[in-house]
Amino acid sequence: MTCPVCGKKTLRTILEEKELPYFGKCLIVTSICDNCGYKFNDVFTIEVKEPKGYWLKVQEEEDLFAKIIRGSNGTIEIKEIGVKIEPGPNSRSFIKNVEGMLNEIEDVLKGQLKVLSGKRKLNVEKLLKKIKKMKDAEIKFTISIKDPTGVSKIIHESKPERVFSRRLRKNEIKNLKTSVFIFDKK
Ligand SMILES: [Zn+2]
Repeated sequence: MTCPVCGKKTLRTILEEKELPYFGKCLIVTSICDNCGYKFNDVFTIEVKEPKGYWLKVQEEEDLFAKIIRGSNGTIEIKEIGVKIEPGPNSRSFIKNVEGMLNEIEDVLKGQLKVLSGKRKLNVEKLLKKIKKMKDAEIKFTISIKDPTGVSKIIHESKPERVFSRRLRKNEIKNLKTSVFIFDKK
């Protein structure tokens, strides 16, 4: 394969099956370039479980430390700030707490501020102020993750009763995007 960095045909791909905490059985794809040393890692979950959704209403600081386990087919949504993170061809699996998630959204918005002007810039500034209040647990909000392969979840170790979960309905699954990888396997 051609290396995206140096352009030579020296890219090797190694596939490895591994059991990962929270994700279960996974396929780890590592691409290494023998010429320039470029390395790329990605994780795909193999096991398919029942389609499931998780909701957490963040009410106090403690809730900001709940873990978001995101498989490559998970759709994350925070309606209060109009954020939706959907699976795509470059969809990555990750484990982050709610605070880390908000930090990342904040970084993306801060990057947008530099190129925006006028009303759109003002809107982003408003959104950033709101996110800051969310991070200080001054405003309550709900974070959800829906996954047709049932890999993604929310884990609140100190207050598990705050996480609501249920099987996804057919019409909900129909509206969810999936990553290309899973799509190809069907
Ligand atoms: Zn290379």
